[in-house]
Amino acid sequence: MILVVNAGSSSIKFKLYKSTGQAEPTPFVEGLAERITVDGALTLKIEGIKKEYNDKMPNHEAAVQAILNRFQENNVIKDVNDIKGVGFRIVHGGVKVVKPVVLDATMKKVVEDNIKLAPLHNPGALTAINAFEKNMPNAKLVGCFDTSFHQTMPPKNYLYPIPYEWFEEYSARKYGFHGISFDYITQKTAKIINKPVDKINLIICHLGNGASLCCVKAGKSFDTSMGLTPLAGIMMGTRTGDIDPSLHQYIAKQTGLDLEQITDILNKKSGLLGISGISSDMRDITAAVEQNNQKAALTLDMWSQRIADFIVKYANLLEGKVDAIILTAGVGENSRVANESILDKVKILNIKYDDKAMASGYDDYIKVSSSQSQYEIYKIRTDEELMICNETLKFLK
Ligand code: ADP
Repeated sequence: MILVVNAGSSSIKFKLYKSTGQAEPTPFVEGLAERITVDGALTLKIEGIKKEYNDKMPNHEAAVQAILNRFQENNVIKDVNDIKGVGFRIVHGGVKVVKPVVLDATMKKVVEDNIKLAPLHNPGALTAINAFEKNMPNAKLVGCFDTSFHQTMPPKNYLYPIPYEWFEEYSARKYGFHGISFDYITQKTAKIINKPVDKINLIICHLGNGASLCCVKAGKSFDTSMGLTPLAGIMMGTRTGDIDPSLHQYIAKQTGLDLEQITDILNKKSGLLGISGISSDMRDITAAVEQNNQKAALTLDMWSQRIADFIVKYANLLEGKVDAIILTAGVGENSRVANESILDKVKILNIKYDDKAMASGYDDYIKVSSSQSQYEIYKIRTDEELMICNETLKFLK
């Protein structure tokens, strides 16, 4: 069995996979430990059946202990050694981590060193890694990083036009995120279109609450829309995406808010929520558009235009040699209105979608471009946990 973990400062989200070694690993338990350091709440879903517990979780170690105890009590495992590997999603690996790694002392130090670049994310991951290490001394602990996939970007794409010393002294550059998803989608698309991964050129639109695009050239990240932080790029649920970097200073002068306060608003109160005043959730925006809400229509228009612009930019970076355009994550996988709003704005590439396919249900992927389209378009369900599970399994062979 492999446990896949996504940990924050007060929560641990997890999924347990059975692996026979032959077929694709299958998840059979998932859950969430939350309110860690506050009081503690644990939810387990075992083969679809939900159970809730109020286990005390003064720290991450107690949370891990509670998860493992409840696994045992529910006969999910006989003892902790049944779980051979734990795969962690880690946000920031800086420039040193280019692929999944075993989380030994050196790699834990790398996670720690990158706290400066991901102060909201890396500390929780590190605390959780230590807690699992204590409770499961025999399991192989593996880290998959959201930034790794993008370490293949060339300097012209990852450097900002700022004083070069800021890059050298402070590591100020574009890193990009959602790399586990982009990696998964790249491999999956290669299988779907039957082309070797190292020959594939893609434009992947990961459109969740947080959202970014990746320009994949010869199977590797060539450019991506997020930057030093996940605030950059396209408009998101609550984040601005790209804006004038002087906005901070202007708003500070007008309002008296400080840098931290403004950054917080740009991250949590902007994007779909900021413009619409309705919600950060695309379902609410498209529902309001149907009710002829003008603010919602403007929000959708702004959102989709920014994504369309990136698609055109990336098609140019790929010199038109695009094997497929992929729509994925919550919005990309599901929202017909949002997807059509994007594709309707990509006029210059002569893409055409198939109305029926766009409206159709599907399992893991569906081709939505029509036979007249110059480029193929797919909706593909991303699966970051499965990707982490498979990467962890590789270290157990
Ligand atoms: P994240 O993992 O970044 O939190 P998700 O990938 O789950 O986000 O995507 C969340 C977004 O997906 C929300 O804006 C939500 O409205 C949208 N979404 C999820 N399911 C649907 C659906 N069936 N139809 C339209 N939009 C959907």
